[in-house]
Amino acid sequence: IAMPDAIFGERPNSQGVEFGERQSLSAFLAERGRAKLAGLQARCALPDLPAEIAPIRSPIDGAVIGESHHLTAEGAAALVEAARRHVPAAEAMPARARAAALRRAAALMEERRGPLMALLALEGGKTVEDGLAEIREAVDFCRFYADEAERLFADPARLPGPTGEENRLRYRSRGVALAISPWNFPLAIFVGQVAAALAAGNVVIAKPAEQTPLIAALAVDLLKEAGFPADSLFLAPGDGATGAALVAHPATALVAFTGSTETAFAINRALAARNAPIAPLIAETGGINALIVDATALPEQVADDVVTSAFRSAGQRCSALRLLFVQEDVADRMLAMVAGAAAELLIGDPRDLASDVGPVIDAEQKAMLERHVAKMRATQRVRFEGRLPDGLPQAGHWVAPTIVELDRAASLEREVFGPVLHVVRWKAGELDKVCAAVEATGYGLTLGVHSRIDETIRFVTERLTVGNIYVNRNMIGAVVGSQPFGGSALSGTGPKAGGPNYLARFAREQVVSTNT
Ligand code: GLU
Repeated sequence: IAMPDAIFGERPNSQGVEFGERQSLSAFLAERGRAKLAGLQARCALPDLPAEIAPIRSPIDGAVIGESHHLTAEGAAALVEAARRHVPAAEAMPARARAAALRRAAALMEERRGPLMALLALEGGKTVEDGLAEIREAVDFCRFYADEAERLFADPARLPGPTGEENRLRYRSRGVALAISPWNFPLAIFVGQVAAALAAGNVVIAKPAEQTPLIAALAVDLLKEAGFPADSLFLAPGDGATGAALVAHPATALVAFTGSTETAFAINRALAARNAPIAPLIAETGGINALIVDATALPEQVADDVVTSAFRSAGQRCSALRLLFVQEDVADRMLAMVAGAAAELLIGDPRDLASDVGPVIDAEQKAMLERHVAKMRATQRVRFEGRLPDGLPQAGHWVAPTIVELDRAASLEREVFGPVLHVVRWKAGELDKVCAAVEATGYGLTLGVHSRIDETIRFVTERLTVGNIYVNRNMIGAVVGSQPFGGSALSGTGPKAGGPNYLARFAREQVVSTNT
């Protein structure tokens, strides 16, 4: 990894730690990171709300790194009640001031990247490469939504009308916006949702994933330091019951959710069951993401892109490659190259710069993945299993990258969130059948195509309605503003995060027509 020196620079960071050599970064993450970050707490800033204390354990070795004060259902309801009182004040903060605060937050995140990196590794299991990319994405979200807030919200738009009539469109806050974020991007997606909701002038209740509330707590402190008033942003640590109570409250006016498709359905049902105004749901969920490789594809590039897309971040991205369709004529050769490249991946402590793949998030995910691989071993053909090096901490959640060849695409019945790649062969002339199999998954998040035939690329991109299509490259790491991210069907509602239509959904439109 070539980035850390350049990114951390030679100067001391905000904690006075020198990052002159690469080794010192590892040392910071391993030693000082733990020392400085031990004893962290994630709790709601409102005093006296009923909460239950839960320890937060590192996926690397199971060590307790902090505690979360999970709001009970009663505590969650009381929080929404309290938050709604601050709606007028939050809306009164001018859009340009909100944008300025987001830009300050971006600068603060860049400045505090040391502790953020350490916590991304310790709490989220993120490798150095993934941690840096995640901070970059969080920073990009803040700057992008700052620009968008100025574009959309700073001044009312004048609309056409006959002489003597003035029409103005302006955006108002929705009120209390609830952001429910996942553990796989505990900083970037958390900050992205919260930044968008704040940019639109809402009071925001931010419910981080149960596994990763500490980094969320750090991000909330930082957004407040950047200029958002304490009463405009409330951290709501908790579990599923906390989230359900926040959704059920009639004053919750919008829900932005990233996580599983099942939970999105449950939120949708709960919103519909309320005796309350209709609240929009912005859901970004899962995918059974496919890559279609034909016989003209460049094998070396395919191998590299497949390994990156399926196994980096331990496959814990909703964009990750799950289902590789490879044309029969080249399948054996391609698979041998992919397995060879996968065998090079070093699974290890994410604080170590040499590690390519860290742990999966918790024991439950590890057990789910092990059950899946056992089932695949019994019913399909396991083509490759990575090796876990000796000496990994026993209590860490390590899962080796695995490649399974399926008899048919439908044998993968659900999204498997981790480093397991499934492969299906296809024959020349069957491209439409391959597209039908992709469609039959019911999802529509990311799709890759590797081909040197323009007509093949055109056919696939026209035929399928998947949200993000990547041609002759890897299929993860969507860049804010360049590759607005999100899917359709079982993969989500849109609008796409980091795109030009996202922020408007967090606001209400109001038109004032005046007879002049
Ligand atoms: N935006 C991320 C990417 O492009 C994935 C987001 C997610 O996993 O939820 O890789």
